[in-house]
Amino acid sequence: VNKVRENIKRINKKGMVAFSEPLSSYTTFRIGGPADVFVCPGDQQELKETLQFLSDEQIPVFILGGGANILVSDKGFRGAVVSLTKLDKITQQGSNLIIEAGAKVSDVSAYAAQKELAGFDFIYAMPGSFGGAVWMNARCYGGEIGDVLTRINYLDDQLQLQTMIPKREEFQYKNTPFMNQSWIILEGEISLTPCDDLEELWKQMHSHEDDRRQKGHFTAPCAGSIFKNNRDFGAPSGKLIDTIGLKGYRHGGAQIHPNHGNIIINTGQATAKEISELIDLIQERVYKELGFNLEPEVLKVGDWE
Ligand SMILES: Cc1cc2nc3c(=O)[nH]c(=O)nc-3n(C[C@H](O)[C@H](O)[C@H](O)COP(=O)(O)OP(=O)(O)OC[C@H]3O[C@@H](n4cnc5c(N)ncnc54)[C@H](O)[C@@H]3O)c2cc1C
Repeated sequence: VNKVRENIKRINKKGMVAFSEPLSSYTTFRIGGPADVFVCPGDQQELKETLQFLSDEQIPVFILGGGANILVSDKGFRGAVVSLTKLDKITQQGSNLIIEAGAKVSDVSAYAAQKELAGFDFIYAMPGSFGGAVWMNARCYGGEIGDVLTRINYLDDQLQLQTMIPKREEFQYKNTPFMNQSWIILEGEISLTPCDDLEELWKQMHSHEDDRRQKGHFTAPCAGSIFKNNRDFGAPSGKLIDTIGLKGYRHGGAQIHPNHGNIIINTGQATAKEISELIDLIQERVYKELGFNLEPEVLKVGDWE
């Protein structure tokens, strides 16, 4: 244990290292027990060395972005959580941006607008990192990552640097080549277009933020949509949950958002177990009453029984 601690600290001189670190501070649910090792490498070199060390020691790794789409167990994570938040550089090359995985998507959106570039406004005010958004092809307000992504640098299973020129058809609704792999997204390039009406661009961005605020996205800790939508069900998951009268339903500290059936909030002291039980309950009720099998979008992470 001491060898691991010393080496992780030695590698991450610019970064941050902690042990038995509660993950609740790093998830938008504000839920999650401790990670044995928690490390934020200071740059890509430290990240690579950290991952190599953890791999040599056969320590399980979880890559953490903005923690906006995960439910971490109350028992936490046995192994090392590697947070990419310090890898947040954004650089401009003509009308393209090169973005490190840990940059917040909303910051990237604002950066693009400052550089008078349009095409990334749709994602303004959405929580999460660029890497996390690429990982699952985040989408909202008529746009998705796959629309603008032109290159991705990532580490493969052997921690070798690879470049992918993404094929449009491989980036579908909540489905990308990264979701079935343990590859680590380091940075990506997006292609934008010069904007000739900045006022309108910012207006759009602020309208997305206002819309999220109005829908109650920021009133209590949550992880956005709990279930994927499925066209075959004839209505969005939130509507289906609403139809069977579950909106506002409480289970311990977990509650289905009073304004939005597809969001579960942590009312203050919710445990991961309560959130998970509420997810199960919704699935059972929707299946029983409507015959549809809702598929969770939020990922369960860590030590679950
Ligand atoms: C209020 C609110 C509103 C939301 N609205 C939307 C919305 O409109 N549309 C939408 O699509 N989503 C939405 N979400 C969900 C969430 O914001 C997105 O899924 C986001 O893309 C998650 O990114 P993240 O960095 O937080 O990922 P995390 O939750 O940290 O991680 C999610 C997964 O991605 C993996 N991952 C993260 N970074 C990397 C990397 N660099 N390399 C490899 N794997 C990586 C993780 O290992 C994990 O498996 C919302 C969430 C909240 C809280």
